[in-house]
Amino acid sequence: MHNFDFEASASFARSLDAADILRSYRDRFYLPMKEDGSPFIYLCGNSLGLQPRQTKSAIEQELEDWKNLGVEGHLHAKNPWLPYHEFLTNAMAKVVGAKPEEVVVMNTLTANLHFMMVSFYRPEGKRKKILIESDAFPSDKYAAESQIKMHGLNPKECLIELKPREGEVCLRMEDIQQCIEEQGEEIALILFGNTNYYTGQYFDTHKITTWGHAKGCKVGFDCAHAVGNMDLQLHDSGCDFAVWCNYKYLNAGPGGMGGAFVHERHLANPDIIRCEGWWGHNKETRFQMRDPFDPIPTVEAWQLSNPPIFAMVCVWASLKIFEEVGMKNLREKAIRLTSYLEFLVNSMGEDVVRIVTPSDPMQRGSQLSIQVINADRTVYDRVTEAGVIADWREPDVIRVAPTALYNSYEDVYRFYEILRESI
Ligand SMILES: *Cc1c(COP(=O)(O)O)cnc(C)c1O
Repeated sequence: MHNFDFEASASFARSLDAADILRSYRDRFYLPMKEDGSPFIYLCGNSLGLQPRQTKSAIEQELEDWKNLGVEGHLHAKNPWLPYHEFLTNAMAKVVGAKPEEVVVMNTLTANLHFMMVSFYRPEGKRKKILIESDAFPSDKYAAESQIKMHGLNPKECLIELKPREGEVCLRMEDIQQCIEEQGEEIALILFGNTNYYTGQYFDTHKITTWGHAKGCKVGFDCAHAVGNMDLQLHDSGCDFAVWCNYKYLNAGPGGMGGAFVHERHLANPDIIRCEGWWGHNKETRFQMRDPFDPIPTVEAWQLSNPPIFAMVCVWASLKIFEEVGMKNLREKAIRLTSYLEFLVNSMGEDVVRIVTPSDPMQRGSQLSIQVINADRTVYDRVTEAGVIADWREPDVIRVAPTALYNSYEDVYRFYEILRESI
């Protein structure tokens, strides 16, 4: 589907940069600097995105308004704090492919995962299990296990951890389908990391949702590695819920706020069980403080507290960039940039390195997980020493994610040279 005519040379990389319509966005971010004043090659945007230059003044605005207005800022700040989360909703909804009423920025990721499981993991009768990937992010697994225990059930019996085939690293879609076919009637919730943090494998949300729903399961996704990376279509996928963090590809800063999606079909359900707090209550009557809980008829009903404005600011500052660029443009560059990296790495030979991430661009985002044959951590240390910020996973995998917003083709080319020399 994507046939690129690439060359392994610095001048070719520079020609790709010259033709890149998003190249100016690199200047909208602070690149971490080496002692000699030149930037590191930053390939860790899948772990912590870089700081947009416009974030600082946005925070200063709120500090000023708090200084000058005190509590009046709730209504009279330049960006009033009372409805503050609403300013982010449209842009966030576009990034994940959802309707505005289905999306809210709130809390942090694992907290949101728990809140969503309170609503969508309701074991009953012989339908008690949760299906996850065996290589799920540890936090997701802990959350699932503890939810199982909260229902008085045993994680050993109720958590199905789907493993790749012997000798394989990624899961095959047909094996996911078969597992749902065979065990679906006992599965209450299918919960997949999307995209997988270790392998970079993207799971088709629509297919998994369709298979799950056909068997009566609820289906949710952890999109920590997909948001701002894949062109997600959460609404059309039909999944019941999704959660994510905004500090990876979304550049909202360390520990930044997360997001949640609940499909519109659940929003008007008066019987849904959820953790409730005053920020989920009808905005018209919230401050009367005496009425019984009257949920907002959107995903905002899942909000608990009035949100931390300073953390919210950072999400908004970054979302503005995403709104300008659009996920279609971003994804187009990401596919080309990642394919260039793949081309270069593969040119080193299978006996030296092996990419464990799927080679089909539709089954991955910006991240490639590169297994270095017969290597130990010293390879990674040399790569780091040479000015690359990447990520090492024991025993032998380097994870790198060139991001479309601030990485260049030259970054990718220089990383390849450094990796080759380091091995
Ligand atoms: C990054 C990540 C997390 C981190 O969870 P926090 O609650 O934000 O600390 C959890 N799950 C997945 C799949 C992740 O990629």
